[in-house]
Amino acid sequence: MGLSKTIWAAPSEIIRHKQPEHPVLVFSPAALQASARRFIRGFPGIVTYAVKSNPDEMVIQNLVAAGVRGFDVASPFEIDLVRRLAPGAALHYHNPVRARAEIAHAVKAGVKTWSVDSGSELEKLIEMVPAEGCEISVRFQLPVAGAAYHFGAKFGATAEAAAELLKRAAAAGFIPSLTFHPGTQCTDPMAWDAYIRTAAGICTAAGVTAARLNVGGGFPSHRQEAAAPALEAIFALIDRVATEAFGADRPVLVCEPGRGLVGDAFTHITRVKALRDGTHVFLNDGVYGGLAELPLIGNIDRIEVISPEGARRVGAPVGRTVFGPTCDSVDRLPGELPLPGDLAEGDFIVFHGMGAYSSATNTRFNGFGAMEIVTALSLKG
Ligand SMILES: *Cc1c(COP(=O)(O)O)cnc(C)c1O
Repeated sequence: MGLSKTIWAAPSEIIRHKQPEHPVLVFSPAALQASARRFIRGFPGIVTYAVKSNPDEMVIQNLVAAGVRGFDVASPFEIDLVRRLAPGAALHYHNPVRARAEIAHAVKAGVKTWSVDSGSELEKLIEMVPAEGCEISVRFQLPVAGAAYHFGAKFGATAEAAAELLKRAAAAGFIPSLTFHPGTQCTDPMAWDAYIRTAAGICTAAGVTAARLNVGGGFPSHRQEAAAPALEAIFALIDRVATEAFGADRPVLVCEPGRGLVGDAFTHITRVKALRDGTHVFLNDGVYGGLAELPLIGNIDRIEVISPEGARRVGAPVGRTVFGPTCDSVDRLPGELPLPGDLAEGDFIVFHGMGAYSSATNTRFNGFGAMEIVTALSLKG
């Protein structure tokens, strides 16, 4: 991955001038800061950023510039990254399973907020982390639908277990809190409804008043043209349900979006290497690169196809099988991607809304993945 210092006007200018042979992720600091301000203005609580969705230093710097003061981190590397770029920011170490060496590293770095979803990991924290001024957030899960895939499959205690963990954390002198993650690209706001009401029930069962409730990431980005995310409606629902469920004991709310903050701040330029015998599309990027997520959560339909001369292809859509560049047969996009019928070798396929889980999961498998990240004033045009 390289970093170019040039600031471009828009993706089309990059295509005209560079004719890029390698995948290019185009970053708009203005779009990212607007997204951060939308969260800060609308969310009824504290906005933190899940670093794993896109750990680019420019992303973290622009979020700080826009007013983000807390970061969800999962590893010593992410802890050190945020400490260096945003020394005063709060670090929420919300990977609930950690090696002892990782815990020691985080204590030294001044981490004050930790999540946990099991008795064994809670005892490790009690043993190693000074309780004074430290918060332990118990992560719980529900079998709810609504997200693109279910995060509870890996992390989260049952409600019953969470009540026991909350009691134990409070008794050990930690600030007791709760946290959940409804699953990424969660377009059904009722997922938050169910989780928040369950959180109130856990507090009642434990006889503990939670200081804070972290309602996770999961906020959707704009992946389908016809479905712009209704973030304000989700914020309003979270606000209303928190008051209904907790009444006078309403905890301070926190959110930790990754995708919802950064997704729409990047556009991805790929190129058609070949249209094999007029049928299958071979792209210069695929599932081992910037398009890693598409087989997991579905194709993005916010796509434009641009000719090398910069003209937009407008032919009637034809469903195409799209392969990535590696020699691995799983390197293909799901189903068929509707692409303009006049698509030709050398064209550029531009995917919008590609800021999350794209550069972060890019690999050099098979010698591909020479992805470049460039900055543009606008992602339109
Ligand atoms: C990945 C992750 C997030 C961000 O999820 P998005 O769906 O990208 O918003 C937030 N919190 C935790 C604990 C995570 O693991």
